[in-house]
Amino acid sequence: MHRALPALRNDLVTVVKPNLFDYDRQGLRDLFASIGEKPYRADQVMKWMYHRHVTDFGQMTDVGKALREKLSAHVDIVPPKTVFEKQSADGTHKWLLGMDGSNAIETVFIPETSRGTLCVSSQVGCGLNCQFCSTATQGFNRNLSAAEIIGQVWVAARHLGNVPHHQRKLTNVVMMGMGEPLLNFDNVVRAMSVMRDDLGFGLANKRVTLSTAGLVPMIDKLSEASDVSLAVSLHAPNDELRTELVPLNKKYPIAELLGACQRYVAKRPRASITFEYTMMKGINDKPELARQLVKLMRKVPSKVNLIPFNPFTGTRFERSEEEDIRNFQKILLDANVLTTVRRTRGDDIDAACGQLKGQVVDRTRRQAEFRRTLDEGQVDAA
Ligand code: SAH
Repeated sequence: MHRALPALRNDLVTVVKPNLFDYDRQGLRDLFASIGEKPYRADQVMKWMYHRHVTDFGQMTDVGKALREKLSAHVDIVPPKTVFEKQSADGTHKWLLGMDGSNAIETVFIPETSRGTLCVSSQVGCGLNCQFCSTATQGFNRNLSAAEIIGQVWVAARHLGNVPHHQRKLTNVVMMGMGEPLLNFDNVVRAMSVMRDDLGFGLANKRVTLSTAGLVPMIDKLSEASDVSLAVSLHAPNDELRTELVPLNKKYPIAELLGACQRYVAKRPRASITFEYTMMKGINDKPELARQLVKLMRKVPSKVNLIPFNPFTGTRFERSEEEDIRNFQKILLDANVLTTVRRTRGDDIDAACGQLKGQVVDRTRRQAEFRRTLDEGQVDAA
């Protein structure tokens, strides 16, 4: 639901104006209609925001002066604030973006020869408590607004500069940063709509990927709303091990998760599904488990992405040996399961998968528990 314009009341000292980054094309047109403006005006403003990175109505030269003044009075265009940014030796760029007075999230851009991928966060922290993920140790604070999600893409796109579409450096977005995107459904879907809109960032559906730890009913809901690519964080081929690594598995075990994936591809035949599998030494990298995975992969047309585990302070897990990763991949490939190994990028600036921490004011007390475990020496500090 989009917020209607607030009525201006004399008794209020400050009125928070709607932030245009919170609206997709239809929402923006409705908002403009509510102040008596034509839909094409909304489209013009959208182009200024996303194609030219302009946030000041005064600079929108093809919008009449009267409308510019009306817009300035009623609405705002506010991107997230950059707290700091860092560039890795391999070109990976990380932003810490301040979302409010006390919380910040991380966004990472990974340039490659033929594409550039932005890893976007959906929540401040995460509530799912996956054992091997650094974000989990931070606890959870809140969902990001649609403006805070699309704002991450905007900050990165502005940094990369205005270039003709075919030379664009930002070609892919993965919702694989901090948080569980399907637990922030409406805002994520709205932000993804701007990512794919020609008046927004104009990315093809298959170049926008939503990654989930496996919220079965929300995967079904997503299939109604969009045909973005789906990444499913599997990490184990049987329920016993998966429940240990991804506690959500207790609620939605593997058979149900695969059922939802089958329904997703049936409903969205053009969408692809990738199963992510973080490789942890001695935990989930044995050949027997690769053989179990082959059997699961027969059920859904998909590919597997093996992610060498990225360590963080306090974790009890270690990265699998390269040879074990290769053997695991070979078992899958020999059984005709398309399998890639993700190259680790940006780990010198803690920007690799699972290393994003941001700055989270935890409302779950998980951080306190994690620190206590560290103090009691139950985990090996890296
Ligand atoms: N909640 C969503 C999106 C965030 S995680 C999800 O679970 O998919 C994005 C990806 O990074 C997931 O596949 C996740 O399992 C992986 N990941 C998390 N911690 C990691 C680590 N320490 N090393 C490597 N990959 C990790």
